[in-house]
Amino acid sequence: MSVYQDIGLERVINASGRVTVLGVSTISDRVAQAAIAGGQSYVVIDDLMVRAGEIISRYTGAEDSCPTSCASAAIAISIAGLISKGKKSIMDRLPDSSGLANEIILQKGHVINFNAPIETMIRLGGGVPVEVGTATEVVPEDIEEAITDKTVAVMYVKSHHCVQKGMVDLPTMIDIAHRNNLPLIIDAAAEEDFRKYIAMGADLVFYSGAKALEATTSGFVTGKKEYIAYARKQYHGIGRAMKVGKESIMGLLAALDQYENKDRKAEVEKNIEIVKYLCEQINRIPNLKAEMIQDEAGRAIYRARVYVDPDKAGMTATELDRRLKDGDPTIRCRTEFMSLGKLDFDPRPLVAGDKELIVEKLKKIMEA
Ligand SMILES: *Cc1c(COP(=O)(O)O)cnc(C)c1O
Repeated sequence: MSVYQDIGLERVINASGRVTVLGVSTISDRVAQAAIAGGQSYVVIDDLMVRAGEIISRYTGAEDSCPTSCASAAIAISIAGLISKGKKSIMDRLPDSSGLANEIILQKGHVINFNAPIETMIRLGGGVPVEVGTATEVVPEDIEEAITDKTVAVMYVKSHHCVQKGMVDLPTMIDIAHRNNLPLIIDAAAEEDFRKYIAMGADLVFYSGAKALEATTSGFVTGKKEYIAYARKQYHGIGRAMKVGKESIMGLLAALDQYENKDRKAEVEKNIEIVKYLCEQINRIPNLKAEMIQDEAGRAIYRARVYVDPDKAGMTATELDRRLKDGDPTIRCRTEFMSLGKLDFDPRPLVAGDKELIVEKLKKIMEA
């Protein structure tokens, strides 16, 4: 029994991944202890923000960093910072930025929805998104020609949600931004490498705390000192509505250390074993087919993909998903390719006993 069942909610088998709708990830005892200790003392919050930023930067290699309540908040306060540049009179009127330089350029294939539109986070900070190119093809000229004296940043989105073909690559985007004296900012919320984009020359990078890091609900922005200082100031402006608690910050710092010292190769191996088990067992169920696939964004994440042929299975992938969800525990898998007859099972959030229950339930559904 979990505390959620104690208050009358159904048990969840999360085969979906680090997704907000199911609670993203779970924290280790070490991270939980850090959050408890952080929550049980007082601290000067402005000082904690600065010190936590210095500590986060050790793990990213950037000049400075700033903790946030989530990656979305990191986007909003960073953009508010780039528009206001530390000026109180501007901060005090945000997100109203009318008449100011406020445009954020991004490629059409990067205008994603992670269960909330990315452009909403840009607008929350006073930014005006300027989409360039088309959904399937963007060329460097599209970006160059969109730059005006109202542009404050060029934004790149690294995500499996993005269109993975026909977009302008990151080094080219960085080059265009820097030739025009503009910061290049990156949403890398779900990425697993906290140094890569800073090392490539990005000016600000946004990360989620609870995704790859398995931290308390949190996030951070890491990058150039000047821009981080602008972002941090927003806690006395629009950032107040996105307050990050001291306990979350302490959990985040513990998670960064835990992540750096973790044997990630062993973890990937363990997940591959689970995927292999799922594929083997599911391939024994008449009329279903399964195989191991790698994450669309190229991360070291492997999943079991189940192919549902309606002629053989007697139901569509959508119907199979509905039946998996139905019942207690409810089984939640990835449904991004459901309309193409594919359901994906992510091994990372599964706990002991889950993989057997998934196979059992699939068998039951197919036999019915
Ligand atoms: C998850 C995600 C976000 C939002 O992260 P939160 O920490 O939940 O705000 C933003 N961008 C991308 C690409 C994501 O995957």
